[in-house]
Amino acid sequence: MSLRFDLLPPTIAEAHQHFEAWVSAAQDVNDINRLKGVFIGRKASHLTLLTDLLKQTPKESKADLGALINHLKMTWETALSLRLEQLVSASASSSVDLTLTPPVLPQGAVHPIQRLEVHIVSVFRTLGYHVEEGPEVETEEHNFDGLNIAPNHPARRSSDTFYFEAHPHLLLRTHTSPVQVRVLKRLSQKNSQGVSLLESLGGIRFLSPGRVYRKDEIDPTHSPMFHQVEGMLIGKNIGLQHLKGTLSYAMKALLGADTEVRFRPGYFPFVEPGCEVDVKCPLCKGQGCRVCKSSGWIEILGAGLVHPHVLSHAGIDSTAWSGFAFGMGIERIAMIISECPDLRLFFENDLRFLQSMREVR
Ligand SMILES: [Zn+2]
Repeated sequence: MSLRFDLLPPTIAEAHQHFEAWVSAAQDVNDINRLKGVFIGRKASHLTLLTDLLKQTPKESKADLGALINHLKMTWETALSLRLEQLVSASASSSVDLTLTPPVLPQGAVHPIQRLEVHIVSVFRTLGYHVEEGPEVETEEHNFDGLNIAPNHPARRSSDTFYFEAHPHLLLRTHTSPVQVRVLKRLSQKNSQGVSLLESLGGIRFLSPGRVYRKDEIDPTHSPMFHQVEGMLIGKNIGLQHLKGTLSYAMKALLGADTEVRFRPGYFPFVEPGCEVDVKCPLCKGQGCRVCKSSGWIEILGAGLVHPHVLSHAGIDSTAWSGFAFGMGIERIAMIISECPDLRLFFENDLRFLQSMREVR
């Protein structure tokens, strides 16, 4: 006996034609429940409508319509529960999708000052320099006496330097230069044959990066703690030409190949002659701007030939050996490179600022 689809009311006949397409388009349990409501639900569904219709149908057609209703009920129920099973198993397997990109967790980074320090050291490493370190708590002898700083020099005042009350000869180093004194003293030591370490090495070149302390009020360009990198080279017949060649190369490596370098006479007790080193302002290319105070040049480091007193204080023969030394402030260079006008930002650790400092190497 073939099914009498012609007995269906037109709306239900049309709905049945679309049924399969609707079921396969269902994306989740909600879609399935909506279709169930429309086709086989207990209230006002196509099925209840057909059941009502059966009651009013003349006897001769009742069996045919009854058979058709059973067929449709079976078809709809089976298709809907099959699709529901498919959707449930698909969502279960997709909950462990191994191809998904894992969430990106925030990562820490090296502080811009530390990064710049590492970069400066790497530039000088290519010139054969190694790193020497010294303590931040120093003696007056290493911090001042050994560096030819006069007993009445203003830098020694307790208004400029942090001394330890209980140990008046101890202080927080005001520069990284005491490392020079420590290294030179070590190099002057002689072995059993009377040969000094400096003689057996034939010379030395090193950098000493680190923290230094001064009694400065905190303002946009001063801080009681900041970072310096000090460098020294000791050898035979070392002159200003070696100093100029080394620092010109280093400034170009640090600030860019087109960096222009200028040397001006300057005074520091531990060098003779001394010089101050300027670079043509990398921001305005010498045109004059806020950072270079309209001069077109920025003072970037102090340098000079090692004073004979510094060598002889450490026990090194200043007639046989000579050398040069230089020092620079790391924050100062970071401020120039990043155009940051306020030193304090480097210490306040505001992540928004630190993340914006990515260009500082
Ligand atoms: Zn400028």
